[in-house]
Amino acid sequence: MYHLVEIFESLQGEGRNTGRPVVFVRFAGCNLACPWCDTDVRKKFSASLDDLVAEVKSHQAKSVILTGGEPSLVKGMAELISALKAAGYWIGVETNGTNEPAWFGQIDYVACSPKAEYAERVKLQKANEVRIVASSEDIVGFCQTMRARIAATDYYISPCERGGEIDFATAKSVLGKLDGWSLSVQLHKILGFR
Ligand code: SF4
Repeated sequence: MYHLVEIFESLQGEGRNTGRPVVFVRFAGCNLACPWCDTDVRKKFSASLDDLVAEVKSHQAKSVILTGGEPSLVKGMAELISALKAAGYWIGVETNGTNEPAWFGQIDYVACSPKAEYAERVKLQKANEVRIVASSEDIVGFCQTMRARIAATDYYISPCERGGEIDFATAKSVLGKLDGWSLSVQLHKILGFR
């Protein structure tokens, strides 16, 4: 059984795949406790492999993003990926980078969002993109460390949201101190879609 928070269809709101229609599969549970976390990772329901795949297929999008929580902790991912691949899905994963399970090799797109509060726990060495939230001006050194540690095609800075306010000023300042990083806005927050 898979323990889940929600399964819903939307557009990817951030990173290189912004605007891509996807089915988000949000797994319950996380191994970190970021002080500013705004994601509810408590289990809302459980589903068998067949039921999970059937729920994904009930939506229109032919792409799936496995997210959380922290999907790298989930058992039975190899089976789920095989089933989704057999049905022709493009599969992305969003991870905090603290694990690098073998099944990441089967994923079409790995997006890593390492957290400065847990820098020493980042194990991932390769991703398609790295996204870091500009929570303060002090994040610059962490970004440079993550760039040296994780080989990726794209490196993004995301503005931090606090109490509904999106802090573009800090993101802009941080980007100015880095080389080869781009802005990734959270389009779903700006346009107000889920
Ligand atoms: S890694 Fe993500 S889901 Fe987990 S506590 Fe941090 S922000 Fe929340």
